[in-house]
Amino acid sequence: MSDRAFAASRLQLVFSAGRDHDLDRVVARDLPALAKQLSHWGHFARPVTVHVAVDLAQLRAASPLASVMDLRGLAIGDQVWLLQPHAWPDRPTDGQLGLLLAHELAHVLWFQRSTQSPRAMAYLPTWFREGFAVVASEGRPAAAQRRQLAHLDIAALAYADDRQMAELGTEVYQVAAYAFASWHAQCGRRGLGELWRQLRAGATFSRAFLNTCGVDDRAFVTTFAAEILNEGRQR
Ligand SMILES: [Zn+2]
Repeated sequence: MSDRAFAASRLQLVFSAGRDHDLDRVVARDLPALAKQLSHWGHFARPVTVHVAVDLAQLRAASPLASVMDLRGLAIGDQVWLLQPHAWPDRPTDGQLGLLLAHELAHVLWFQRSTQSPRAMAYLPTWFREGFAVVASEGRPAAAQRRQLAHLDIAALAYADDRQMAELGTEVYQVAAYAFASWHAQCGRRGLGELWRQLRAGATFSRAFLNTCGVDDRAFVTTFAAEILNEGRQR
């Protein structure tokens, strides 16, 4: 079914020496579907190297400043690191492993489409960087659940730093996904393509964002937070 989409994604994984039996099984079974999902957003320019970290210390050590650190994995340039399933506090299901792999691959896709500098990834606002990764890997969040955001401090979660992400976990990703989906509904594929084009041309994220949608990213989040608050009041 998805052979053509898989080919269109041009996704090629290269595994480093560290392998994991569970991960190999998930890759063998789910990679075509993950590639199909990601191919809606663009194709990969280069192969992606996958490393397995034996514990959290090794995962963190692989994460200098210019990386995208998630709780169980990270993406840096064309590389993905995943925490070995045995080292997760709760052993992950195959579905969770597949989602983590897809999420980190989405960060690599962003990197390959938008910039030549891994360092530039660190300057993306959390909501936009994680929002893209969640929506690209899992699809749009369910509209009916948007009202669950009403009790959250959206502006703070949207710009959470690494430490806050570790503490607040899923709420950061939740807010990011809805905020990114809202941006994408307004600016669309064309907007995303234009944003990438400007980033490749050397614009800062703030400048490229403003040029693309006519509003700066902080103002966009402020409006988004007001909308959510409003929807919460109307319940
Ligand atoms: Zn992420």
